[in-house]
Formats: sequence, structure tokens, C-alpha cells
Amino acid sequence: MIKRLFATCLLLTIVLIPSMRADEGMWIPILIEKYNIKLMQEKGFKLSAEDIYSVNRACMKDAVLLFGGGCTGEVISSEGLLITNHHCGYGQIQSHSSLQHDYLANGFWAMSKEEELSSQGLTVTFLKRMEDVTDKVLKGVTEGMDPTERDKIINSNISEINTKAAEGTGYSASVRPFYMGNQYFLFVNEIFRDIRLVGAPPEAIGKFGGETDNWIWPRHTGDFSLFRIYTDKNNKPADYSKDNVPYKPVYFFPISLKGVKEGDFTMVFGYPGTTFEYVPSYYIDMVKNYINPKMIAIRAKKIDIMEAAMATDPLIRIQYSSKKSGIANSWKKWMGEIQGLDKMNTIGKKQEFETRFMKWVYEDNSRAAKYGKIIPSYKELYSNMKDYSLVNSYTNEVFSGAEAVSFARSLRSLADLCENNASDDAVKSAKISTLAGAKSFFKNFNKATDKKLFAAVMKMYGENIDPKWQTQEFIKFKTLCKGNFQSAADKLYDQTVFADEAKYNAFVNSFNKSSVAKLKKDQFYLLANDANEFITNNVRGELIRINGEILKLNKIYMAAQMEFEKDKVFYPDANLTLRLTYGQVKGYKSKDAVYFSYYTTLSGIMEKDNPEIFDYKVPDKLKELYQKKDFGRYAQDGEVPVCFIANNHTTGGNSGSPVINAEGQLIGVNFDRAWEGVASDMAYNPDQSRNISLDIRYALFIIDKFAGAGYLLNEMKIIE
Ligand code: ASP
Repeated sequence: MIKRLFATCLLLTIVLIPSMRADEGMWIPILIEKYNIKLMQEKGFKLSAEDIYSVNRACMKDAVLLFGGGCTGEVISSEGLLITNHHCGYGQIQSHSSLQHDYLANGFWAMSKEEELSSQGLTVTFLKRMEDVTDKVLKGVTEGMDPTERDKIINSNISEINTKAAEGTGYSASVRPFYMGNQYFLFVNEIFRDIRLVGAPPEAIGKFGGETDNWIWPRHTGDFSLFRIYTDKNNKPADYSKDNVPYKPVYFFPISLKGVKEGDFTMVFGYPGTTFEYVPSYYIDMVKNYINPKMIAIRAKKIDIMEAAMATDPLIRIQYSSKKSGIANSWKKWMGEIQGLDKMNTIGKKQEFETRFMKWVYEDNSRAAKYGKIIPSYKELYSNMKDYSLVNSYTNEVFSGAEAVSFARSLRSLADLCENNASDDAVKSAKISTLAGAKSFFKNFNKATDKKLFAAVMKMYGENIDPKWQTQEFIKFKTLCKGNFQSAADKLYDQTVFADEAKYNAFVNSFNKSSVAKLKKDQFYLLANDANEFITNNVRGELIRINGEILKLNKIYMAAQMEFEKDKVFYPDANLTLRLTYGQVKGYKSKDAVYFSYYTTLSGIMEKDNPEIFDYKVPDKLKELYQKKDFGRYAQDGEVPVCFIANNHTTGGNSGSPVINAEGQLIGVNFDRAWEGVASDMAYNPDQSRNISLDIRYALFIIDKFAGAGYLLNEMKIIE
């Protein structure tokens, strides 16, 4: 039934789309022809839907890739060169860095293919084809069927579809639910495993503005890095080998030097991660008013401690920069989200919607029977979920916040093996992998910093979580040290093996059954294991149960919303599958009397230049180029453009996505959103939701003029 209603809605959308606003929405590639192309062309797009997605001929989708597990990238040369964000390649750049070769500080440029650096563990994924498989997935499912039976049939159908789709192709296949499980699509992907770092500007360019400017417009960040895909001799994915050859893509993006102006058509094609556009008011209330304020406070504390330490020592800066960026990114976004949701009165609007919705539901008896319980059930479920959800997130934040504590769990499996009299070989191999893990852990560990983090997070846990939700070991520890966590830390960090590489290695090397008793007295080991058990036994189960109920309800609510708002065009929430969003290059009014124009330039970087502030230190070479006006072909009206904004509806995961003009050429690389509209994951604000992109001309200027790696441009197709 739901399916039939859903189909009706889609039919209606065909008729109504031309009158709808295009800027909001993350659209499904195979449905562009049907639902979007007409409006896109009205807005200025000059190509066809087949130029974007096709299985019959080379098209844009063949050049867009999922970079690692959470960013986008695009192929820009016939030799498998790809561009993504600096912040997407950050972990790779950092892992190749040391004090001797500080690629974060100095940048990295391979001056030939031989100098490219293999990025172990990194993959890139291309979509080969997708298909609506809703009917196949629901084959054998009947109305009113027992839910467990239903899930069993669906899962078995899905695994059959996946197996068939991948058979004999070397591809991987996965079926994914859309519209909260009201529709299913199959994705067939090709995954490449030999990826090499080709180039990255220094942080002072690639991360210019740092945390200060993150999520902020106007922006001046040269947020890009370059990698190359390698294959076996048959152009197929392969593990790293020096005999591998550069990938020959079926399609790569031509690059336009023509630039953008306000009102220009623009689209972003990439992998948006997660959005929550159709949730009830209760969800937003829980996240915005209950969980995130506490998460913001604890992350702020951690960030303060890390930043202070990083400012004192270049090694600590290398060790903690990636970790700090990781926690600061969501921290700042949550703050922007709260402001945006308040400003748009999203909760109020959702409540008003829910009232209208319920009124409509009760206008009809059969609707009342089907949908009458949705909103009251949400209310009850979210009020039950609140504490579980907070405790789950906060406990994790605390016990992973002091790394010596979370690292204590690294000996759990070795201890289990010894206690259970495992064979010598099993113990030996566990020791080898434990020691390997320790090597990478201690590479990025600073004892004094972690000690401060420990004292701070323990204190906040004690103050912010109701004692009935605190772990027993923590309560004992708090009583024992009388709440004086700093002086407890001073002692513990000298006693434990988890904060000292030599001690840890010696302990592991000589580890046997009798070591287990000693291990079980280690305060960090006790805290870490107890926290893990507490969450597993007292929190996660219930959280999963409630969440399961919510997911079931979401499916019905989604179908009901589509039935209720028949005239509205619904796009599915983001789920890290390939999507297209389109709109215009556009400035915005930030607040009363403040209007932000749509682009920034190199002059703005010079205005921000401040050697006293780490985030705003401009490299000398860049200043020199600026002073000499050595801009080559990359300037417009005497200025080098750096970034621009548009109203494309993007989210996390769209980082690194190609920003494409009306002719299908690459004009930028998406990397962020403006603060005022960042709540767009829950509510898009047409007046203020703006995606921030690096102007491709700035990337080329840096590669060519700053880095002297202009040879890379020879393999690109550049349109003057
Ligand atoms: N900065 C985000 C990311 O890292 C992009 C966004 O959320 O707009 O994916």
C-alpha cells in the first residue's frame, strides 16, 4: 500500500517539479532525466541528463568517486589524477609526515610519478551503475506480514540481488534503502586500492584559516590535495605494486579557467553522508537542546587543551593536528546548527506541521488507523531515548578522550588468550599485532597532554552525567582520589604501562598468564573495560531497541508525509550514495546590514596575514607571488580568485565534490558550508544555506606558481 501511495507521489512530482524551487535537494542520478533535467536546463544547464549519468556512454559519473569512506573526489586527467580536499587527504598527508619530512607544514609535491607516496589502506570507489530494485527486494512480502519474517525475506532478496549483480564482474554490489526504507536501489561499484599521494599544499594554504575559519564565510582556504589511482596492466583494481600503472579513466573533468559570476548555474555531484530532513520535532529537540550542548562543552575543553599543547611544540602539533581537527569539525558545526535551528524556528515549524498532519490523519478513519499513532509514539520514544543517547555519546567522548585510557583496551584480547590457556602461537601472534598497534599509537601520543585531557574529561563526566548513569569503576576512582583528578593523573601516568612506549613494549613482550593479575589492577584498564561493559550491558541494547522502533516509525511517517503533502517534491535523505544538487552562485545576507559577496581573492589572504596567529600565517612564497603580481593565467580583473559560494544543498561527505558549470566543466572543489546555513542537514534555509568551494583557478595557481609542479597541468584538459 505504502509503495502504491509512494508511486502516486512520484507521479505527481513529475507534473509539479517545474514550479518547485531547485536549490534544495540531493537528487538521485538515475532519476535526473525524469525529475530534474528540465528545470536544470531552465536554470542554465547546457547538457543532458545522459551527460551526467549513463550506463551506455562515458559521462560525469565515471569521473566522480567516493574517496576513502567519507569524502568525494574527481578525476581530472587521463592518467588517473584526482583532486579532493586537503582535509580529506589530511590523514594520509599526516601519516607520511615526520619532523624530518613535515608535509603538513611544508606541503608535498611529487615531481615525477616515481616520487608519489603510496597511501596504504586508502580506496576510491566508482559507481558503475545503479538500479531501482524495490520490486525485487519486496518480492514475497505481503501486507500485515510478521515483521521478523518480512525482514528475513527482504534480507535474503537483497543478498541474492547483490550476488547476481556482482557475479563475474570484479565489482562489488550493495542494495541501499531510500526514503526511510520505502524504496531500494542497487549500487554496483568498482573499488581501487592502489592510491598514491601526488601533491598537497602546506597547511598554511590547504588549511588556511584553520579552526578559526572552519564553517565560516568569507573563506580563503586552498583546501585541496592530489592523488593518483593505479591499476594492474588491465586497468583493473589491484593491491599496491611497483609494477602497477596509472588508471585510464573512461571520463575525466575538463577544467574551466573562465570562472563564475553571481547567478551562474552550478551543480555539485558527490557523496553526501547523512541528513535528517524528515524527522519529527522530538528528534531535533533531543539533539539540539539535550545532547549537543553537553557535547559542545566537553569538546571545547578538549580542544583548548590540545591547542595549548600544540602551540608549545612542533612535534605535538604534528601529533595532535589531525585528532584535533576531527573533534573540532563537528563541535563547531553543532554550535552553528543550534543557532540556525533557533533562527528558523525549526522545532516550532515542525510542531506546527505535526499538528496539521494529525488533523489530516484524523479526517479519515482508515488514515487514523494507519497513521494515528505516529506522532504520540515518537514523543514517547524520544523521551525514553534521550538519556540513553546522551550517556552513550558522552561516555564514549570521555573514555576515548583520555587516550591512555582507551588504549588500555589494547591488551584485552591478549589477556583473554592467556587466561584461556591459548596456544603459544596464538599468544605470539597477538603480541606481534599488539606491538604494531602500539607503534602507531605512541607515534601520536604526548603524555603531558593526555594527562591534562584525562583530568579534564573525568571531572566533566563527574559533573555532567547523573551518578546513576556513571560507571562503578569511575565512582570508586572518584571517591578514592576525592575528585582531585589532576593529582591522581600525575601519579597514574607514571605507574601505568599505557602512557610509556618502552614500558608497554616490555610488558607485552613478557606477557603471560601471571601478567593478567597486574593488568587487572591498572586503573586505566579498569576504567576502560568497565566503561565498555557498562555501555554494552546497560545502554546500547536499549538504545538499539528504541532506535529500531524509531526506524519502523520513520518508514511509515515518510510515506505518510508524502501522502499528506502530495504536491511537494521529496528528495531522499543523504545516505552516502552518489547525488546531484544544483542551484546558483550566490551571496547572502549574514545579519542585519551585512551582505556577503560570493567570492574571495588572494588579497583577502594578505589582509588576514598575521604571523602571530597560527591559522593566519601566510607562506613567504605566496606573499612574493602576490607582491610581484605573478598570477599567470589564473587571475581575473587583476585578482586571483580563491573561493566562492553557491546555494547548492550539500553536507558532510560532499567534501571534495566537483563543482560544475553549465557546460559540465570543473570550476571548483566543494569543501564546506557557511555557518549561518549549516543547519541544512535538518532544515535547508534558501536565504542562508551556502556551500563553499575552492575556485579551481586557485588550486591551479598553487600547483603551478607556488609549488612549481606545473608539469601536472599537462595531463589535464584546461579550457581557457
Ligand atoms: N566540511 C564538510 C565535510 O568535511 C562539508 C560540509 O559539511 O559541507 O565533509
